Amino acid sequence: MKTIILAGGGHSHLSILKKMASNSIPDTKWILISSNKYQYYSGMFSGYIEGLYSIDDMRIDLSQLAKQANCLFYDASISKIDATAKQVITDDGQLFSYDYLSLDIGSHTNNPSINGLTQFQSSLKPAHHFPTHAKKLRDAANVVIIGSGAAACEMVLSLQAWKDRQNKKNGLISLIHSNDLLGKNGKRTSQLATSIINKNKIQHYEYERAEEVTEHHVITDKGKRIPYDEVVFLGGGSAPDMLKHSGLAVNKDGFLLVNSSLQSIDNPYVFGAGDCVSLVTHPHLEKNGVHAVRQGPFLWDNLRAALMKTPFVNYSPQKKSMAILSTGNKEALLIYGKIALQGKWAWRLKDRIDRKFIEKYK
Ligand SMILES: Cc1cc2nc3c(=O)[nH]c(=O)nc-3n(C[C@H](O)[C@H](O)[C@H](O)COP(=O)(O)OP(=O)(O)OC[C@H]3O[C@@H](n4cnc5c(N)ncnc54)[C@H](O)[C@@H]3O)c2cc1C
Repeated sequence: MKTIILAGGGHSHLSILKKMASNSIPDTKWILISSNKYQYYSGMFSGYIEGLYSIDDMRIDLSQLAKQANCLFYDASISKIDATAKQVITDDGQLFSYDYLSLDIGSHTNNPSINGLTQFQSSLKPAHHFPTHAKKLRDAANVVIIGSGAAACEMVLSLQAWKDRQNKKNGLISLIHSNDLLGKNGKRTSQLATSIINKNKIQHYEYERAEEVTEHHVITDKGKRIPYDEVVFLGGGSAPDMLKHSGLAVNKDGFLLVNSSLQSIDNPYVFGAGDCVSLVTHPHLEKNGVHAVRQGPFLWDNLRAALMKTPFVNYSPQKKSMAILSTGNKEALLIYGKIALQGKWAWRLKDRIDRKFIEKYK
Protein backbone atom coordinates (compact mmCIF):
# COMPACT_ATOMS: atom_id res chain seq x y z
CA MET A 1 0.00 0.00 0.00
CA LYS A 2 1.45 3.39 -1.03
CA THR A 3 0.62 6.61 0.81
CA ILE A 4 0.22 9.88 -1.06
CA ILE A 5 -0.02 13.09 0.91
CA LEU A 6 -1.72 16.04 -0.73
CA ALA A 7 -0.38 19.07 1.18
CA GLY A 8 -2.76 22.04 0.93
CA GLY A 9 -6.22 22.23 -0.59
CA GLY A 10 -5.18 24.61 -3.37
CA HIS A 11 -6.52 24.87 -6.92
CA SER A 12 -4.54 21.95 -8.37
CA HIS A 13 -5.48 19.60 -5.56
CA LEU A 14 -9.16 20.50 -5.92
CA SER A 15 -9.12 19.03 -9.41
CA ILE A 16 -7.22 15.95 -8.19
CA LEU A 17 -9.86 15.34 -5.50
CA LYS A 18 -12.57 15.63 -8.14
CA LYS A 19 -10.76 13.12 -10.40
CA MET A 20 -10.25 10.74 -7.49
CA ALA A 21 -13.98 10.60 -6.83
CA SER A 22 -14.46 8.82 -10.17
CA ASN A 23 -11.06 7.10 -10.68
CA SER A 24 -9.75 4.92 -7.90
CA ILE A 25 -6.17 3.64 -7.88
CA PRO A 26 -5.75 0.26 -6.17
CA ASP A 27 -3.49 -0.12 -3.11
CA THR A 28 -3.11 3.56 -2.45
CA LYS A 29 -4.00 5.64 0.57
CA TRP A 30 -4.55 9.36 -0.02
CA ILE A 31 -4.35 11.94 2.76
CA LEU A 32 -5.21 15.61 2.30
CA ILE A 33 -3.65 17.86 4.96
CA SER A 34 -4.79 21.46 4.79
CA SER A 35 -4.74 24.39 7.22
CA ASN A 36 -8.49 24.77 7.24
CA LYS A 37 -11.62 22.79 6.49
CA TYR A 38 -12.34 25.33 3.75
CA GLN A 39 -10.51 26.47 0.65
CA TYR A 40 -11.23 30.18 0.13
CA TYR A 41 -11.33 31.03 -3.57
CA SER A 42 -9.30 34.17 -4.35
CA GLY A 43 -11.21 34.87 -7.57
CA MET A 44 -14.06 35.98 -5.29
CA PHE A 45 -12.01 37.85 -2.65
CA SER A 46 -12.80 41.23 -4.21
CA GLY A 47 -16.55 40.51 -4.48
CA TYR A 48 -16.60 39.31 -0.88
CA ILE A 49 -14.81 42.46 0.36
CA GLU A 50 -17.34 44.58 -1.54
CA GLY A 51 -20.27 42.69 0.00
CA LEU A 52 -21.41 41.02 -3.25
CA TYR A 53 -20.75 37.46 -2.04
CA SER A 54 -21.35 35.69 1.26
CA ILE A 55 -18.65 33.60 2.89
CA ASP A 56 -20.32 30.39 1.68
CA ASP A 57 -20.39 31.68 -1.90
CA MET A 58 -16.59 31.77 -2.02
CA ARG A 59 -15.47 28.70 -0.10
CA ILE A 60 -15.20 25.00 -0.78
CA ASP A 61 -15.61 22.40 1.95
CA LEU A 62 -12.43 20.31 1.66
CA SER A 63 -13.58 17.71 4.18
CA GLN A 64 -16.64 16.91 2.03
CA LEU A 65 -14.64 16.86 -1.17
CA ALA A 66 -12.07 14.53 0.40
CA LYS A 67 -14.83 12.24 1.66
CA GLN A 68 -16.29 11.90 -1.84
CA ALA A 69 -12.77 11.16 -3.13
CA ASN A 70 -12.17 8.44 -0.55
CA CYS A 71 -9.31 10.50 0.81
CA LEU A 72 -8.57 11.08 4.50
CA PHE A 73 -8.72 14.71 5.55
CA TYR A 74 -6.55 16.17 8.29
CA ASP A 75 -7.23 19.76 9.30
CA ALA A 76 -3.83 21.23 10.27
CA SER A 77 -0.93 23.21 8.85
CA ILE A 78 2.19 21.38 7.82
CA SER A 79 5.05 23.07 9.63
CA LYS A 80 7.94 20.84 8.55
CA ILE A 81 8.87 18.65 5.60
CA ASP A 82 11.65 16.12 6.04
CA ALA A 83 12.27 15.04 2.47
CA THR A 84 15.04 12.64 3.47
CA ALA A 85 12.85 10.72 5.94
CA LYS A 86 9.79 11.17 3.62
CA GLN A 87 7.76 12.68 6.45
CA VAL A 88 5.72 15.80 7.14
CA ILE A 89 4.96 17.21 10.59
CA THR A 90 1.91 19.34 11.35
CA ASP A 91 1.67 22.29 13.75
CA ASP A 92 -0.20 20.07 16.25
CA GLY A 93 2.74 17.65 16.37
CA GLN A 94 1.37 14.84 14.16
CA LEU A 95 3.85 13.03 11.97
CA PHE A 96 2.81 11.56 8.59
CA SER A 97 5.03 9.33 6.43
CA TYR A 98 4.56 9.29 2.67
CA ASP A 99 5.65 7.48 -0.43
CA TYR A 100 4.78 10.52 -2.56
CA LEU A 101 4.16 14.08 -1.46
CA SER A 102 2.30 16.64 -3.57
CA LEU A 103 2.55 20.30 -2.53
CA ASP A 104 -0.14 22.87 -3.34
CA ILE A 105 0.13 25.18 -0.34
CA GLY A 106 0.05 28.52 -2.18
CA SER A 107 2.10 31.58 -1.33
CA HIS A 108 2.10 34.24 1.38
CA THR A 109 1.52 38.00 1.08
CA ASN A 110 4.71 39.38 2.58
CA ASN A 111 7.86 41.28 1.72
CA PRO A 112 10.57 40.97 4.38
CA SER A 113 12.56 43.81 2.73
CA ILE A 114 9.98 46.34 3.99
CA ASN A 115 10.93 46.90 7.63
CA GLY A 116 8.08 46.28 10.05
CA LEU A 117 5.67 44.88 7.44
CA THR A 118 5.65 41.33 8.78
CA GLN A 119 4.82 42.61 12.27
CA PHE A 120 2.07 45.07 11.38
CA GLN A 121 0.36 43.95 8.17
CA SER A 122 -2.88 41.97 7.74
CA SER A 123 -1.89 39.04 5.52
CA LEU A 124 -4.57 38.01 3.03
CA LYS A 125 -2.61 34.84 2.23
CA PRO A 126 -2.31 31.95 3.07
CA ALA A 127 -5.89 31.74 1.84
CA HIS A 128 -7.39 30.56 5.16
CA HIS A 129 -6.34 33.89 6.75
CA PHE A 130 -8.56 35.80 4.34
CA PRO A 131 -11.90 35.96 6.23
CA THR A 132 -10.34 37.32 9.45
CA HIS A 133 -8.27 39.95 7.68
CA ALA A 134 -11.06 40.87 5.25
CA LYS A 135 -13.20 41.83 8.25
CA LYS A 136 -10.40 44.02 9.64
CA LEU A 137 -10.03 45.79 6.29
CA ARG A 138 -13.75 46.47 5.99
CA ASP A 139 -13.91 47.84 9.57
CA ALA A 140 -10.80 50.03 9.27
CA ALA A 141 -11.04 53.74 8.42
CA ASN A 142 -7.61 54.16 6.79
CA VAL A 143 -6.32 51.24 4.72
CA VAL A 144 -3.01 51.23 2.85
CA ILE A 145 -2.42 48.67 0.10
CA ILE A 146 1.09 48.24 -1.32
CA GLY A 147 1.41 46.82 -4.85
CA SER A 148 0.87 47.48 -8.54
CA GLY A 149 -0.64 44.24 -9.84
CA ALA A 150 -4.14 42.85 -10.27
CA ALA A 151 -4.70 41.89 -6.61
CA ALA A 152 -3.68 45.35 -5.32
CA CYS A 153 -5.90 47.19 -7.86
CA GLU A 154 -8.88 44.94 -7.16
CA MET A 155 -8.50 45.27 -3.41
CA VAL A 156 -8.44 49.11 -3.27
CA LEU A 157 -11.36 49.40 -5.68
CA SER A 158 -13.46 46.79 -3.85
CA LEU A 159 -12.75 48.36 -0.47
CA GLN A 160 -13.72 51.78 -1.80
CA ALA A 161 -16.94 50.35 -3.29
CA TRP A 162 -17.69 48.72 0.12
CA LYS A 163 -17.13 52.05 1.91
CA ASP A 164 -19.42 53.86 -0.55
CA ARG A 165 -22.06 51.16 -0.20
CA GLN A 166 -21.95 51.53 3.61
CA ASN A 167 -21.85 55.32 3.29
CA LYS A 168 -18.66 55.39 5.37
CA LYS A 169 -17.24 58.87 4.99
CA ASN A 170 -14.26 58.74 7.36
CA GLY A 171 -10.77 57.60 6.41
CA LEU A 172 -9.01 56.91 3.12
CA ILE A 173 -8.08 53.93 0.99
CA SER A 174 -4.51 54.45 -0.25
CA LEU A 175 -2.49 52.64 -2.91
CA ILE A 176 1.33 52.83 -2.96
CA HIS A 177 3.29 51.42 -5.88
CA SER A 178 6.74 51.90 -7.34
CA ASN A 179 6.04 50.40 -10.80
CA ASP A 180 3.41 51.09 -13.47
CA LEU A 181 -0.02 49.72 -12.49
CA LEU A 182 -0.58 46.40 -14.30
CA GLY A 183 2.71 47.22 -16.05
CA LYS A 184 3.13 43.70 -17.47
CA ASN A 185 0.07 44.30 -19.66
CA GLY A 186 1.42 47.32 -21.51
CA LYS A 187 1.21 51.11 -21.37
CA ARG A 188 -2.44 51.39 -22.44
CA THR A 189 -3.67 48.95 -19.80
CA SER A 190 -1.58 50.77 -17.23
CA GLN A 191 -3.07 54.14 -18.18
CA LEU A 192 -6.59 52.73 -18.06
CA ALA A 193 -5.98 51.20 -14.62
CA THR A 194 -4.51 54.51 -13.37
CA SER A 195 -7.53 56.47 -14.59
CA ILE A 196 -9.93 53.99 -12.89
CA ILE A 197 -8.00 54.31 -9.61
CA ASN A 198 -7.96 58.11 -9.82
CA LYS A 199 -11.70 58.28 -10.55
CA ASN A 200 -12.50 56.29 -7.41
CA LYS A 201 -11.39 58.62 -4.59
CA ILE A 202 -8.37 56.43 -3.86
CA GLN A 203 -5.35 58.22 -2.42
CA HIS A 204 -2.78 57.29 -5.01
CA TYR A 205 1.00 57.31 -4.35
CA GLU A 206 2.51 56.54 -7.74
CA TYR A 207 6.16 55.56 -8.21
CA GLU A 208 6.84 55.54 -4.47
CA ARG A 209 8.36 52.63 -2.65
CA ALA A 210 7.08 51.66 0.79
CA GLU A 211 10.26 51.35 2.84
CA GLU A 212 9.09 50.95 6.40
CA VAL A 213 5.93 50.17 8.33
CA THR A 214 5.66 51.49 11.88
CA GLU A 215 2.75 50.93 14.24
CA HIS A 216 0.62 53.68 12.65
CA HIS A 217 2.39 54.82 9.45
CA VAL A 218 3.79 53.55 6.19
CA ILE A 219 6.95 55.49 5.29
CA THR A 220 7.91 55.84 1.63
CA ASP A 221 11.25 56.43 -0.10
CA LYS A 222 10.07 60.01 -0.76
CA GLY A 223 9.75 60.56 2.98
CA LYS A 224 5.92 60.53 3.14
CA ARG A 225 4.33 59.20 6.34
CA ILE A 226 0.98 57.68 5.38
CA PRO A 227 -1.29 56.92 8.34
CA TYR A 228 -3.08 53.56 8.41
CA ASP A 229 -5.33 51.42 10.56
CA GLU A 230 -4.72 48.37 8.34
CA VAL A 231 -1.91 47.79 5.86
CA VAL A 232 -1.60 44.96 3.32
CA PHE A 233 1.22 44.05 0.97
CA LEU A 234 -0.04 42.75 -2.40
CA GLY A 235 3.10 43.23 -4.46
CA GLY A 236 3.71 39.55 -5.27
CA GLY A 237 3.62 36.29 -3.36
CA SER A 238 6.41 35.12 -1.06
CA ALA A 239 7.36 31.47 -0.51
CA PRO A 240 6.23 29.55 2.60
CA ASP A 241 9.31 29.43 4.88
CA MET A 242 9.20 25.67 5.46
CA LEU A 243 10.18 24.96 1.84
CA LYS A 244 13.61 26.53 2.45
CA HIS A 245 14.19 24.19 5.39
CA SER A 246 12.85 21.04 3.71
CA GLY A 247 16.08 19.87 2.09
CA LEU A 248 14.37 20.18 -1.33
CA ALA A 249 15.78 22.35 -4.13
CA VAL A 250 14.23 25.83 -4.09
CA ASN A 251 14.87 28.96 -6.19
CA LYS A 252 16.48 32.12 -4.76
CA ASP A 253 13.10 33.26 -3.41
CA GLY A 254 12.42 29.94 -1.68
CA PHE A 255 9.85 28.43 -4.12
CA LEU A 256 10.06 24.66 -4.79
CA LEU A 257 11.88 24.02 -8.08
CA VAL A 258 9.93 21.61 -10.31
CA ASN A 259 10.49 20.34 -13.84
CA SER A 260 7.85 20.14 -16.56
CA SER A 261 6.44 16.94 -14.94
CA LEU A 262 5.75 19.11 -11.85
CA GLN A 263 8.23 16.94 -9.99
CA SER A 264 10.90 18.32 -7.64
CA ILE A 265 14.15 18.64 -9.61
CA ASP A 266 16.12 16.75 -6.97
CA ASN A 267 13.59 14.46 -5.31
CA PRO A 268 11.42 12.06 -7.37
CA TYR A 269 9.01 11.51 -4.47
CA VAL A 270 7.89 15.13 -4.29
CA PHE A 271 5.59 16.94 -6.71
CA GLY A 272 4.13 20.42 -6.58
CA ALA A 273 1.89 22.92 -8.35
CA GLY A 274 0.43 26.41 -8.03
CA ASP A 275 2.00 29.40 -6.34
CA CYS A 276 4.41 27.41 -4.14
CA VAL A 277 6.48 26.14 -7.09
CA SER A 278 8.81 27.65 -9.65
CA LEU A 279 9.00 25.83 -12.99
CA VAL A 280 12.59 25.54 -14.18
CA THR A 281 11.29 25.70 -17.76
CA HIS A 282 9.30 28.92 -17.08
CA PRO A 283 10.97 30.71 -14.14
CA HIS A 284 9.01 33.95 -14.66
CA LEU A 285 5.55 32.39 -14.89
CA GLU A 286 3.05 34.63 -13.09
CA LYS A 287 1.59 33.30 -9.88
CA ASN A 288 -2.15 33.21 -10.35
CA GLY A 289 -5.10 30.90 -9.95
CA VAL A 290 -5.39 30.31 -13.70
CA HIS A 291 -2.02 28.52 -13.90
CA ALA A 292 -2.67 26.66 -10.64
CA VAL A 293 -5.98 25.33 -12.05
CA ARG A 294 -4.40 24.31 -15.36
CA GLN A 295 -1.62 22.39 -13.63
CA GLY A 296 -4.13 20.20 -11.75
CA PRO A 297 -4.78 17.58 -14.47
CA PHE A 298 -1.02 17.27 -15.22
CA LEU A 299 -0.27 16.79 -11.54
CA TRP A 300 -2.94 14.08 -11.35
CA ASP A 301 -1.59 12.27 -14.43
CA ASN A 302 1.97 12.39 -13.09
CA LEU A 303 1.13 11.25 -9.57
CA ARG A 304 -0.65 8.27 -11.14
CA ALA A 305 2.28 7.70 -13.51
CA ALA A 306 4.69 7.69 -10.55
CA LEU A 307 2.52 5.10 -8.75
CA MET A 308 2.07 2.93 -11.82
CA LYS A 309 5.59 3.41 -13.20
CA THR A 310 4.31 4.76 -16.52
CA PRO A 311 5.69 7.76 -18.48
CA PHE A 312 5.08 11.31 -17.28
CA VAL A 313 3.31 14.05 -19.24
CA ASN A 314 4.89 17.47 -19.63
CA TYR A 315 3.12 20.62 -18.54
CA SER A 316 3.68 23.75 -20.58
CA PRO A 317 1.81 26.93 -19.60
CA GLN A 318 -0.20 28.76 -22.20
CA LYS A 319 1.46 31.95 -23.46
CA LYS A 320 -1.46 34.29 -22.79
CA SER A 321 -4.36 33.98 -20.43
CA MET A 322 -7.39 36.15 -19.80
CA ALA A 323 -7.73 37.98 -16.48
CA ILE A 324 -10.82 39.80 -15.26
CA LEU A 325 -10.38 42.26 -12.39
CA SER A 326 -13.33 43.59 -10.51
CA THR A 327 -13.20 47.42 -10.48
CA GLY A 328 -16.14 47.80 -8.06
CA ASN A 329 -19.87 48.35 -8.40
CA LYS A 330 -20.29 45.31 -10.64
CA GLU A 331 -17.87 46.59 -13.28
CA ALA A 332 -14.69 44.82 -14.28
CA LEU A 333 -11.60 45.17 -16.44
CA LEU A 334 -10.96 42.31 -18.86
CA ILE A 335 -7.29 41.92 -19.82
CA TYR A 336 -5.93 39.66 -22.52
CA GLY A 337 -2.26 40.26 -23.34
CA LYS A 338 -2.05 44.02 -23.96
CA ILE A 339 -5.78 44.44 -24.60
CA ALA A 340 -7.87 45.87 -21.74
CA LEU A 341 -11.61 46.63 -21.78
CA GLN A 342 -13.81 47.78 -18.92
CA GLY A 343 -17.56 47.34 -18.49
CA LYS A 344 -20.48 45.82 -16.61
CA TRP A 345 -20.49 42.95 -19.13
CA ALA A 346 -16.93 42.05 -17.98
CA TRP A 347 -18.11 41.79 -14.37
CA ARG A 348 -21.06 39.58 -15.41
CA LEU A 349 -18.63 37.30 -17.25
CA LYS A 350 -16.29 37.16 -14.24
CA ASP A 351 -19.21 36.43 -11.91
CA ARG A 352 -20.36 33.57 -14.17
CA ILE A 353 -16.87 32.04 -14.43
CA ASP A 354 -16.22 32.28 -10.67
CA ARG A 355 -19.59 30.88 -9.63
CA LYS A 356 -19.18 28.00 -12.11
CA PHE A 357 -15.74 27.21 -10.66
CA ILE A 358 -17.08 27.05 -7.10
CA GLU A 359 -20.19 25.11 -8.13
CA LYS A 360 -17.99 22.34 -9.55
CA TYR A 361 -16.69 21.59 -6.07
CA LYS A 362 -19.85 22.02 -3.98
C1 LIG B 1 -6.20 39.48 -2.78
C2 LIG B 1 -5.88 38.48 -3.86
C3 LIG B 1 -6.73 38.35 -4.95
C4 LIG B 1 -6.43 37.46 -5.99
N1 LIG B 1 -7.30 37.35 -7.05
C5 LIG B 1 -7.03 36.48 -8.03
C6 LIG B 1 -7.91 36.33 -9.15
O1 LIG B 1 -8.96 36.99 -9.22
N2 LIG B 1 -7.59 35.42 -10.11
C7 LIG B 1 -6.43 34.69 -10.06
O2 LIG B 1 -6.18 33.87 -10.97
N3 LIG B 1 -5.59 34.80 -9.03
C8 LIG B 1 -5.84 35.67 -8.02
N4 LIG B 1 -4.97 35.79 -6.97
C9 LIG B 1 -3.79 34.92 -6.92
C10 LIG B 1 -4.24 33.56 -6.41
O3 LIG B 1 -4.79 33.71 -5.11
C11 LIG B 1 -3.15 32.54 -6.33
O4 LIG B 1 -2.32 32.59 -7.45
C12 LIG B 1 -3.79 31.15 -6.22
O5 LIG B 1 -4.58 31.10 -5.06
C13 LIG B 1 -2.74 30.08 -6.19
O6 LIG B 1 -3.39 28.87 -5.98
P1 LIG B 1 -2.67 27.70 -5.16
O7 LIG B 1 -3.44 26.49 -5.47
O8 LIG B 1 -1.22 27.71 -5.45
O9 LIG B 1 -2.79 28.12 -3.63
P2 LIG B 1 -3.99 28.59 -2.72
O10 LIG B 1 -5.20 28.88 -3.49
O11 LIG B 1 -3.42 29.70 -1.88
O12 LIG B 1 -4.28 27.33 -1.80
C14 LIG B 1 -3.35 26.86 -0.87
C15 LIG B 1 -4.04 25.97 0.12
O13 LIG B 1 -3.08 25.40 1.00
C16 LIG B 1 -3.45 25.60 2.36
N5 LIG B 1 -2.19 25.76 3.11
C17 LIG B 1 -1.38 26.84 3.14
N6 LIG B 1 -0.31 26.58 3.92
C18 LIG B 1 -0.45 25.31 4.35
C19 LIG B 1 0.34 24.46 5.20
N7 LIG B 1 1.48 24.89 5.73
N8 LIG B 1 -0.10 23.22 5.46
C20 LIG B 1 -1.27 22.77 4.91
N9 LIG B 1 -2.05 23.53 4.12
C21 LIG B 1 -1.64 24.78 3.83
C22 LIG B 1 -4.31 26.87 2.35
O14 LIG B 1 -5.16 26.92 3.45
C23 LIG B 1 -5.05 26.68 1.02
O15 LIG B 1 -6.16 25.83 1.21
C24 LIG B 1 -5.25 36.68 -5.92
C25 LIG B 1 -4.39 36.80 -4.82
C26 LIG B 1 -4.70 37.69 -3.80
C27 LIG B 1 -3.76 37.81 -2.62
